[in-house]
Amino acid sequence: MKPYLNDTLTCQCCLNEDKSKFTEKFTRNDFVVLECNRCSFNFIPWYYRKSISYTSYKDDAVLQQIRQGNNWIKIQRHLLRFKLIRKYIKTGRLFDLGSGWGHFLLAGKQLGFDVYGIEVATNPYTYSKEDLGLPVDHVDFFDLKKEAGSFDLITLWDVLEHIDHANAVIEKCAYLLNDGGYIVIQVPQIDSFIAQRKKEKWNMMGLDHVNYFSRKTITHLLNRHGFRVEKIQSSIELKLLLMYTILPWIKKLKKKKETAISSSERQEFYNKTTRKPMWMLKIMVLLHNMIYNMLSFLNIGEEMIVVARKET
Ligand SMILES: [Zn+2]
Repeated sequence: MKPYLNDTLTCQCCLNEDKSKFTEKFTRNDFVVLECNRCSFNFIPWYYRKSISYTSYKDDAVLQQIRQGNNWIKIQRHLLRFKLIRKYIKTGRLFDLGSGWGHFLLAGKQLGFDVYGIEVATNPYTYSKEDLGLPVDHVDFFDLKKEAGSFDLITLWDVLEHIDHANAVIEKCAYLLNDGGYIVIQVPQIDSFIAQRKKEKWNMMGLDHVNYFSRKTITHLLNRHGFRVEKIQSSIELKLLLMYTILPWIKKLKKKKETAISSSERQEFYNKTTRKPMWMLKIMVLLHNMIYNMLSFLNIGEEMIVVARKET
């Protein structure tokens, strides 16, 4: 018998629990990705994920690099996100779930949003609270005590793929949002241009990521909790491309062999690339945004941004 069948299997998209209604879609050395036969949702069963912890997600060496980084350029990436968001909602109470190092909240604050965030990883939390002075709490989302309708906008940037109970997350977000409020989610997209070509070799497929949504399954999940999807657009993090694809190429060329690259080393490389005079940085941002928008328009990416409205 397959080891994961000893645990309860619940499809986080349609809540199917019938163990005969799941098939193995991808097989890797250390895990399998299951597909729900009822709704086509893909996920890694809990059995393989038991050892995953996010509290010490980023170590002290990464923190040191983050402190040396250029905040102006980091905010530019988030201003591009706000360009999309502000087509739907101009201002209000914004809650960023899994706020990371805090640069998205910092950009939101600059634009006049009343911002709030939570972050479970210790170093990103400390940095956003103490270095950036943002209203961020170090609390698990399921322990967060806020009243119904506390927010007008909830954002999840690369967060939902990490959480085993995606259904409960969306349910609680619906509770916390005002009627007519918006949820904006960025997640890896299993039916994206890149994922469909790479299959089980896709960079974004790993034990770290439990949920693999498609346009159809994320819509299904959101609809079930009273959201109407307003927009789904293709997205790609060019910064990750720089740190996870270009940096290994450079290292390979120099040393002619593959070596492990740490998170802090990736961050250091990003810092080095962005330690330039302001005029040069502005050109970089302009180019970044042009490439990003073009790829998004052509539907080339490996993630999607979903904008959905809580129906009144
Ligand atoms: Zn399902």
